[in-house]
Amino acid sequence: MSVPYADLHLQYDTIKNDIDAAIAAVIRDSAFIRGPYVEAFENAFAEAVDVKHCVSCANGSDALYIAMTALNLGEGDEVITTAHSWISTSAMITHAGGNVVFCDTDGSTYTIDPAAIENAITPRTVGIIPVHLYGQPANMDAIMTLARKHNLWVVEDCAQAHLARYEGQQVGTFGNAATYSFYPGKNLGAMGDAGAIVTNDGDLARRMTMLARHGGLTKHQHSVEGINSRLDGLQAAILSAKLPYLSRWTRARQVAAAVYDVGLNQIEDVEVPNIAAGRSHVYHLYTIQHPRRDQLAAHLRANGVHTAINYPVALPFLEAYGRLGHRPERFPNAHRQQSRILSLPMFAEITADQQKTVLDLIRAFA
Ligand SMILES: *Cc1c(COP(=O)(O)O)cnc(C)c1O
Repeated sequence: MSVPYADLHLQYDTIKNDIDAAIAAVIRDSAFIRGPYVEAFENAFAEAVDVKHCVSCANGSDALYIAMTALNLGEGDEVITTAHSWISTSAMITHAGGNVVFCDTDGSTYTIDPAAIENAITPRTVGIIPVHLYGQPANMDAIMTLARKHNLWVVEDCAQAHLARYEGQQVGTFGNAATYSFYPGKNLGAMGDAGAIVTNDGDLARRMTMLARHGGLTKHQHSVEGINSRLDGLQAAILSAKLPYLSRWTRARQVAAAVYDVGLNQIEDVEVPNIAAGRSHVYHLYTIQHPRRDQLAAHLRANGVHTAINYPVALPFLEAYGRLGHRPERFPNAHRQQSRILSLPMFAEITADQQKTVLDLIRAFA
């Protein structure tokens, strides 16, 4: 049996009528840019994540750029983020005019280590971007305590963590703002690019809306120089059609993760995801560690099981950050993990048989 890493078409098959009707409605109304479908999704998503305002935009990377720009990030300002994420998190700091300051992860949850943040704070630090990586919330208590103590803003990168909770509270509601990606493979995915920023701060929401729409809220009245970062009507309608299923899909991911946890528990050399107390993990990815990661991945691949590495090189060691001259000793956890991590097939519709195939192969490898 071959097991895909993810299966987007399977999800479409289960809700085909909803999706087809949503697309047909937007075409019928020619509501391609902004309009009622975009507004309806913004309202529904704000409600789903327990926040007052949702500003939609073109993708999760723009969301980060818009949030930081609206928070007045300026030349030479330092922004602290994690060494272990997708490159958008740090690249957008640079594009918004700031200097990236990387911190190591905590060694057990793949999220930023609050102790490392404290060491990295300087008089030029203005903000922190924690990433709820793979779907597990970062240590928001410690991060918000540091932010209050040093008067820093916090933008949560929730691109992999739709509906995840920390101490019962939704991620995305702790910081000044939070960014989401609806890239097709994310837990809530569009059929193209899409993103959003959420916040409880009405003034910040207004500035972010302006920035995403050419710098003005009214046609031809440009208060600032903005960008064009719009969610289009088709993607908004598709996302609205999928949103009611998100809780169910999230639970299905959590059930599948529990099956992996139990099945992998006794297998030598396999390290399953560690969940810190008080955190609910939504398993955008189910990532294990293994000392012979590449051989294990090749063994799985040869037997029809597709895996991925998220990510093979930690951010400080990418060529894009060569100018910073970072050395492995400064990021021991991120550096150690980059050669050990392996993401197993994970999607809401994965079957017991598919998971058994994966588990049997990993057991055979051991
Ligand atoms: C996907 C992702 C982004 C970027 O989102 P896009 O919609 O692809 O621009 C940013 N941060 C993280 C952690 C992501 O996983």
